[in-house]
Amino acid sequence: AGIDLRDPALLTDHALIAGEWIAPQAGRTIAVTNPFDGALIAEVPDLGPDAARRAIDAAAEAQKAWARRPARERARILRAWHDLVIANADDLALILTTEQGKPLAEAKGEIVSNAGYLEWFGEEAKRINGDIIPAAAPDQRIMVLKQPVGVCAAITPWNFPNGMITRKVGPALAAGCAMVLKPAQQTPLSALALAVLAQRAGVPAALFSVITGEAEPLGLEFCHNPKVAKISFTGSTRVGRWLLREASDSVKRLSLELGGNAPFIVFDDADLDAAVDGAMASKFRNSGQTCVCANRIYVQAGVADEFARRLAGRAARLQLGRGTDPKTDQGPLINEAAVKKVEDHIADALGKGATLLTGGKRSDLGSTFFEPTVMTGVTQAMKVTKEETFAPFAPIIAFRDEAEVIAMANDSEFGLAAYFYARDMARIWRVAEALESGMVGVNAPSLANDMAPFGGVKQSGLGREGSKYGLESYLELKYVLLGGV
Ligand code: ADP
Repeated sequence: AGIDLRDPALLTDHALIAGEWIAPQAGRTIAVTNPFDGALIAEVPDLGPDAARRAIDAAAEAQKAWARRPARERARILRAWHDLVIANADDLALILTTEQGKPLAEAKGEIVSNAGYLEWFGEEAKRINGDIIPAAAPDQRIMVLKQPVGVCAAITPWNFPNGMITRKVGPALAAGCAMVLKPAQQTPLSALALAVLAQRAGVPAALFSVITGEAEPLGLEFCHNPKVAKISFTGSTRVGRWLLREASDSVKRLSLELGGNAPFIVFDDADLDAAVDGAMASKFRNSGQTCVCANRIYVQAGVADEFARRLAGRAARLQLGRGTDPKTDQGPLINEAAVKKVEDHIADALGKGATLLTGGKRSDLGSTFFEPTVMTGVTQAMKVTKEETFAPFAPIIAFRDEAEVIAMANDSEFGLAAYFYARDMARIWRVAEALESGMVGVNAPSLANDMAPFGGVKQSGLGREGSKYGLESYLELKYVLLGGV
């Protein structure tokens, strides 16, 4: 496929089912293409529910043995996997950029920072402590054990093809669970490369399967299979709702990281340089294709013009291009549908009276490249304030005071990330507490971190990933009452 890797074995078109590498069969494959030019990179197996069942059956067996291993052994294997990811980060980044399009430096950043979830949760495996609670009677003891939920299934999106996997598989394996993963059809090669390294690290066969195939039949199998105890999903709110419904018959545990519509607020006491830097990072990272990207930029009236001018100047200088070119700041969008959506939001805003400062259209590079776009005069009546744009479009909405901007920021069914820039300490506390979101960045545009709880409120999801809270969602409590002491 023309990907020049130091270790070519990391690029595989085989799925990993129950410890067995499954080759693609002619006529039953899914094409993986480079979003830069549409070139075919690989064809992976299009597997169905029968393959998922095999993976789940084998995972159920492997999980029992894994849960009995001492925590320190599980920790060592996760540590070895982490170290292999770091050692192979350049190759993994090249695979990621080729199938996803983001600049190589961003791809490597994703891989290195998210390897942290393997390391951190491995360390935590040694600290899954239970409890002894004062008993109700003198001859009794109350104990609380923490046990793995069992076999887990994960469904991951294309925007972070590598990082969304380690943040799920890391805590699952640390807790003593098994994991069957269905990566996004657009980006299976990063998932399969991680699986190669997992095997090298000593992750037991069948404990971690990677199944490639169409989403819905595999999702249904995950939801209905009685051996699956938990599903962890990152993706759209639409699919999250559907999974929640489908999994309800068997009362599965669900962790859902869904859509966002992050407000990014700049108060008039903010450090404006820092706010512009933050907005650039939060809005244009991954071409605007992250669930925590600033979607709506609220700027206090006194600084709105100056902020808009500076942001537009910076956005106009972003270099679009092939992700593997070191000069590239921004790659293409993932597909045509993504371009259509941002075009729709831009047309809607312009139609309702917004003013274009820069961008606004597809780039001359063709394909799905879209120019970084900044607009002023945006209002709450426009689509871009209601829906997740997932593209490099920064709409600026001017506001008068704190109460008004909090009301506008909270006027959303989503509540994943929110950001604001301010210096007044009392204001910082008030606003951080008032924003309806699972995460708030104050003078800080990047939230994700293996040691911190990532997740949303409202329709942005259920549960948290990262931190001790992320581990708990892979554990069940068991109360043991010991009598006759
Ligand atoms: P996006 O718009 O980011 O592609 P999706 O929610 O469609 O968001 O995709 C996220 C993940 O969910 C991908 O792995 C995708 O294949 C998967 N997916 C999409 N539809 C379904 C479904 N009906 N059941 C299970 N998984 C699904």
